[in-house]
Amino acid sequence: MPAPSTQASLHLHPNLGQTQHPLKGRALVAANGPIRAGELVMADVPYAVLPTVTADDTICSNPGCSRRIPGYASSMTCEHNCSPAVRWCSPTCKHQDRRRHGFECGWLKHNSPELRQVSDHDYHMLWIVVRMLAARSLELEQEMGENELPNDVFASGWPGVQLLRSNRQAWPTAQVQHWRELARNYLQGDDCGLPVTLDLESLVELICAEETNVFELCPGPTEMNRGEPYGLAVFLRVTIANHSCVPNVSHQADGQGRMIVTALRDLAKGEECCTSYFDLAESVDVQARREKTEGLFTFTCTCSRCLAETATVA
Ligand SMILES: [Zn+2]
Ligand SMILES: [Zn+2]
Ligand SMILES: [Zn+2]
Repeated sequence: MPAPSTQASLHLHPNLGQTQHPLKGRALVAANGPIRAGELVMADVPYAVLPTVTADDTICSNPGCSRRIPGYASSMTCEHNCSPAVRWCSPTCKHQDRRRHGFECGWLKHNSPELRQVSDHDYHMLWIVVRMLAARSLELEQEMGENELPNDVFASGWPGVQLLRSNRQAWPTAQVQHWRELARNYLQGDDCGLPVTLDLESLVELICAEETNVFELCPGPTEMNRGEPYGLAVFLRVTIANHSCVPNVSHQADGQGRMIVTALRDLAKGEECCTSYFDLAESVDVQARREKTEGLFTFTCTCSRCLAETATVA
């Protein structure tokens, strides 16, 4: 496999901005002028990304690369045998990623066998939180996030993480209590394997934010026939887009960990950019869609389509 060429970089449409919605919080908007159908709205780079361990393919662990590695392709593994899911596409990527991976290596080796037996979901959730902590740790050492654009109107790095909506009050109490137990057992204490961590309540807040904002990386566009997910990622910019069951933008992973947002139709200046948080081909009727938004995302959708279909039903 060839060495990675250039780092996949951030791209933002010049007319893109954000605004504050009274009910929904932050919203993505065509702030400075129209965005035309088919135009690239943004290519967002992940703050943290990991492969779904149950998928055939994996993802290069070097965040600047994050390219998909097919199951049959040769790749580099960690000499500490921390996790079979940790792979690099080239010796260069392995070398570039040594400090970041060093943050998670001991944690993976110590916790992943047990966690994977308990629950794949909890394992992935905690691992991506560990990768967020690793990114924060590197930022603190370097005092500067990479991948910054001069025209980036969005907060990047750890300050951007702290702006993520956690929906803490909306998650069921028992769920938050479970996450608190996981944080206490696996992300704290001298024997958890992490070089640096946060206090317990900050960790619970971070888990709530991760669960509210995490994206599945799928081969297809999210709103239609997305296919089996092969990875998970937290983005700081595309996550600002709110949901609609009649989306005017689409988002799709690009095979290098980025999320590509494209306008599905012309957007007027000032119009909000909404995407679909789930596969609309699978959740066709209003009841199925409501189960998705309420169960997975703790909100009731009030998009024009939902309102129209609810009126018809009632
Ligand atoms: Zn790579
Ligand atoms: Zn390792
Ligand atoms: Zn809706």
